[in-house]
This record gives sequence, C-alpha cells and structure tokens, in this order.
Amino acid sequence: MSVGVRTTSPRDLTDLASLTCGYSGPIAFIAGGTDLIIKQSGMDWPGLVVDLTRLSEIGAIRVSDTMAEIGAATSLTAVAAHPVLNRELPVLTQAAAQVGSVQIRNRATIGGNLASAVPAGDLLPVLKCLDCRVEIRRRDGSVQRKGFDELVVGQAKTSLANGDLIARIAIPLRHGPNRASAFAKIGLREVLTIARLNLAAVADFDREARRINDIRLVAGAIGPVPLRLDTVETVLRGRVVGQQLADDALQALVAVVDNTIRGRRSRPYKRRAIAGLGLDLLQGLFGRAFEPPHEMRFPA
Ligand SMILES: Cc1cc2nc3c(=O)[nH]c(=O)nc-3n(C[C@H](O)[C@H](O)[C@H](O)COP(=O)(O)OP(=O)(O)OC[C@H]3O[C@@H](n4cnc5c(N)ncnc54)[C@H](O)[C@@H]3O)c2cc1C
Repeated sequence: MSVGVRTTSPRDLTDLASLTCGYSGPIAFIAGGTDLIIKQSGMDWPGLVVDLTRLSEIGAIRVSDTMAEIGAATSLTAVAAHPVLNRELPVLTQAAAQVGSVQIRNRATIGGNLASAVPAGDLLPVLKCLDCRVEIRRRDGSVQRKGFDELVVGQAKTSLANGDLIARIAIPLRHGPNRASAFAKIGLREVLTIARLNLAAVADFDREARRINDIRLVAGAIGPVPLRLDTVETVLRGRVVGQQLADDALQALVAVVDNTIRGRRSRPYKRRAIAGLGLDLLQGLFGRAFEPPHEMRFPA
C-alpha cells in the first residue's frame, strides 16, 4: 500500500460504526495483514483502511456448554493453543496449527482467513464442516448472521457488502465420548504450506463397536468453494472401521476428484493426494481403532 493511504484505528465497535456509517467510499479492513499487504502492495487504495487490532471485543474466544464463539480478530496461534477448543474441536485447532509458519500464525486471524475466501484457505473446509454461523456488523452498526454457504459464495468471493465486518464466528458444540474430528492437509512442504488439498471431518464414532454412526466430510482447494463429500459420507456411515472400509473410502474419494476436476492437468496428482490424505484423516479420526493398510490399494 502506498504512503498516502487513509487509515483509521477504531477503539471499539461503536467507534467503528461512527467512523464508517456516513462514509461512502470503499472500506478495507486490515487484521493481521498477511493477505491484504501482499494483495495491495505498491497499489494506491482509493478509500479508507480500517485497522482492527485495537478492537478487543472481536479478539477473544468464549466457550459455553453449547457454543464456541471466536472473535474474528483472534490470531491463528491463539486458536491453535486454546485448551478447550483443542479438546472439543480438534479439527479446528489442527487446521489453525498448520497454516503457514509461526510468524504467519501469530499475525493471521481467523476472520481474515474466512473473509479472503481463497480456495487454499485452511480454515474454510473446517468452518463449513462445523456448520458455523458468522456474525456480521454492518456499517450502520446493525447485526446480521449468515451460515458458511451464504457467506462464501465463490473463489475469493463473499457476500459481504462494502464495510461489513465479520465480528464473530459461532460454532455449535456437541459433546460426548463418541465425538471425533480431524483435519488433514497436503501442501508444498518445501515452502510454506498453502494447501493444495485438505480434508476436514467430524464424526460420531462408537469406539467399542468401532462403528461410524455419522460423519460429515468437507474438502478444500478442490474447487472454488469447499465441497461437502456426501458420496463419501454415504460410504462410511454405519460401517465398522477396518481394511474394507479404508479401501471403499479411498475409492469414493478418488471418484470425487475424477468427477470434480475431470480433464484438468492436476487430476493425476490430486487422485493420489486425496487417497493419501484420506488415510491420514481416518487415522486422525479413529486413532488406534484404524490400522492403516500395510499396502495401499490405490484405486485404478
Ligand atoms: C507466507 C504465507 C503463508 C501462508 N500460508 C497459509 C496456509 O498455509 N494456509 C492458509 O489458509 N493461509 C495461508 N496464508 C494466508 C493468510 O495468512 C491467511 O489467509 C490469514 O488467515 C488472513 O488473515 P489476516 O488477519 O492476515 O487478514 P488480512 O490480510 O488482514 O485481511 C485479508 C482480507 O480479509 C479482510 N478482512 C480481514 N478481517 C476481516 C473482518 N473481520 N471482517 C471482514 N473482512 C476482513 C481484509 O479486508 C482483506 O480483504 C499464508 C500467507 C502467507 C503470506
């Protein structure tokens, strides 16, 4: 961004509303700046840049018995390290812990990751999988709530209007010994790991019977927006964890790639990648109950 950019740093949400309410030009929020600085680097911004770092109201995590509420300006380091989120929502803390590097996670926020809405965003499939609801503060100070699919509508595209601020992300909590969740990702491991593919899952798993009562699966970075894997869920639901289940799950995952990115150059890579990721995910979800096959039977 150039030196002449007009910036402001509101103290609280009331201050923010009074600054933006009567403003008619374009507004850009800056939270951690890890996406925005790169995008706007060297460019003149014709409007107002609003720094969110002083807004402590949207920088905290609150957990009740039924809900986790995460302020949009919470850093990914804070999300990854939160003890209750670690226990209740491992899929979320595992994804946050795998974003970029320590330095990136210290600056990057969960709200910025969601608002950027890029297919490689690691938190996107997770937040869809967890059925989050997003609280939005409009320019006039009014509040609106949207589900994930209402908010993220295309590649790097949200339904946020100019000046709409993501304030909080609410995630319903379902307790019990059967709850399991996990995240798996493949990136460019030699450099910082922007995902080339990722998977998020939440399951209801009967550990004694080793049976999957229910499962919800979402893939990221396979299309413009995260993709719910209904066909794979159907293959897994009601089944006992074991070698046959692993084979069938991998077949179904590879079929998703075949159907989604047919004819694309990345298809052979993504077919193999999703099969490997599928094994990582099953192990993350079911731990010792899932013995990975000694030999991976890669679907033809
Ligand atoms: C080297 C490097 C490695 C990275 N690796 C990964 C990775 O592995 N996985 C991954 O998912 N991402 C990765 N990223 C991307 C980035 O770190 C994340 O998308 C980050 O979470 C963005 O958050 P931020 O707070 O920095 O957003 P900012 O850069 O401040 O903002 C990003 C966009 O969101 C808008 N915005 C921010 N907060 C709000 C809000 N509360 N309400 C409305 N709009 C808002 C801004 O206006 C801007 O358009 C990487 C980035 C870099 C530079």
